[in-house]
Amino acid sequence: MTTIENNMSSQNFLRRIIEEDINSGKLDKRLWSGIPGPSNLQKNIKKIDFASIRTRFPPEPNGYLHIGHAKSICINFGLAEQYNGSCHLRFDDTNPDKEDKEYVESIIEAVNWLGFKWINNSQNNLYFASDYFNYMYEFAEELIKNDYAYIDEQNEDEIKHNRGTLTNPGIESPWRNRPSEESLILFRRMKNQEYPNGSLVLRAKIDMKSPNVNMRDPIMYRIRHSSHHRTGSKWCIYPMYSWAHPVEDALEGITHSICTLEFEDQRSLYDWFLEKLKKIGIFSDPLPHQYEFARLNLSYVVTSKRKLLTLVKGGYVDGWDDPRLPTIFGLRRRGYTPRSIRLFCERISVSKSDSLIDYSILEQALRDDLDIAATRAIAILNPLKLIITNYPINYSEICHAPINHHDKNLGYRNFSFQRELWIDKYDFQEDPQKNYFRLFPGNLVRLKYGYIVRCTGCRKDSKGNIIEVHAEYLPDTKSGTDGSNRIKVKGNITWLSSTDAQSVTINLYEHLFTKPILDSDENNFIDYINPNSKKTITALLEPNTINRDIKTWQFERLGYFIMDKDSTDENIVINRIVTLKDSYIKN
Ligand code: ATP
Ligand code: MG
Repeated sequence: MTTIENNMSSQNFLRRIIEEDINSGKLDKRLWSGIPGPSNLQKNIKKIDFASIRTRFPPEPNGYLHIGHAKSICINFGLAEQYNGSCHLRFDDTNPDKEDKEYVESIIEAVNWLGFKWINNSQNNLYFASDYFNYMYEFAEELIKNDYAYIDEQNEDEIKHNRGTLTNPGIESPWRNRPSEESLILFRRMKNQEYPNGSLVLRAKIDMKSPNVNMRDPIMYRIRHSSHHRTGSKWCIYPMYSWAHPVEDALEGITHSICTLEFEDQRSLYDWFLEKLKKIGIFSDPLPHQYEFARLNLSYVVTSKRKLLTLVKGGYVDGWDDPRLPTIFGLRRRGYTPRSIRLFCERISVSKSDSLIDYSILEQALRDDLDIAATRAIAILNPLKLIITNYPINYSEICHAPINHHDKNLGYRNFSFQRELWIDKYDFQEDPQKNYFRLFPGNLVRLKYGYIVRCTGCRKDSKGNIIEVHAEYLPDTKSGTDGSNRIKVKGNITWLSSTDAQSVTINLYEHLFTKPILDSDENNFIDYINPNSKKTITALLEPNTINRDIKTWQFERLGYFIMDKDSTDENIVINRIVTLKDSYIKN
């Protein structure tokens, strides 16, 4: 089930294609005026494109971006970066019913946060497909005039029925061979708001018997009397994806149009439209080409926009940026860094075959990113008192711990050692299990950065719950002193002194689902929501950990943590991003 795609052969299939294209010289003479448009417009300016390739990330602004989109973003922007090309951020806003400005803004913020730029050589490559509605309409008229498209009066059900199946050819529409002039008039009237929704469509005239169902006279335009978030009520006809997309790519001079595998069957249609537009003289070589890669499937998460919407609207999570969601904003709030997401995308690589990526690969990318630089601190998630019975009352000593073990130059943290300390309750077992090296009666353990102690027992309440652990310290064994290596011990536990530990709220997150593979279960994914996916506890934190500049830490022996965006001075809220791989403290 856990598959890391085999990098060596597949990693570079897109890079290989791009390098071949660059080396062949066929991309050299492309004209690019800096403004999307057909060939005659590019020719007027006569500027050779400075970008070696052009790619694009074309989200539909109908939801928040997720980790799957991050893969597409990293591929498209990453390839452009690598080959001195340009990557366009293009909103594919051709379907007014589901789209919204809110999503446009969130997508811009997410791509920016991931660290990618669409401004290159002072050209701002941020585009909206809706800005091309005039072009799309004009080009459609040209196709009609050349008898490559016609207006069909069949209703939706008839069209669907007459499309045929994989085994049966389709049936030609009775309107298929009407004169072009008639189609043209109807198309203009369609645009002029004269017909109700669903009454007419514009179809490409290709081949109703094609083995590829997509080629059986696909619909190019349908009537939708809906207001669009950018064009308002100007249009009542909207282009279908398969017509709009090749036109958008060609207008923008895209060289490599990279998309996910489900569009493979659409490639011949993509090429058909562009070939016809070239023949008519609207576009010229080199035309854009479509290439497909396997979408990201990640265990324990859902990435379908519809399912994410159900989770948010149904109140199963706390909004689009809930730290348990695989949305970019959820990952950001959880504590994932842009670098860790980019590292993850690099590691999973690009291939043409579907696979399931284990969530742990994403977690490891975060650990690898944060390990080197994260400030260390101590936190106690399940506090239990430890009394050092032979240590003087009202006395304390300062202990030192490196801010980061990888770079001692960063200096040291200080905290005090006293008679009354806090430890984690999982660091004591009255009756130790096999291979348990931490506190149990008679055992010697180092209190990290402090003294070696010998556990002497514990105290219980009337119900038998352990309320205090007792130990005696061995003077002379303080870390950093000459005697510290005098005795070797196997257990090394973290602690805080009872007077200077700071109380904070910590959210402990687990997978949102109890089942690793969800996407095949269409509607019952809600049944697999993990009831323990968020646990909020009050924990204790090393003094002076909270300061203005640092918001992400490694809490020793526990994992990586981040200050939540809702944290205030009065109520400090911290999210656990991920545990350390070999963490043995349970919660
Ligand atoms: P939905 O979840 O509604 O199907 P979508 O994935 O089609 O949405 P778009 O906004 O059309 O969303 O996606 C923009 C780009 O991101 C597309 O090129 C799409 O192929 C790519 N993309 C979307 N999901 C993934 C994924 N899981 N892995 C890789 N690329 C993806
Ligand atoms: Mg889509």
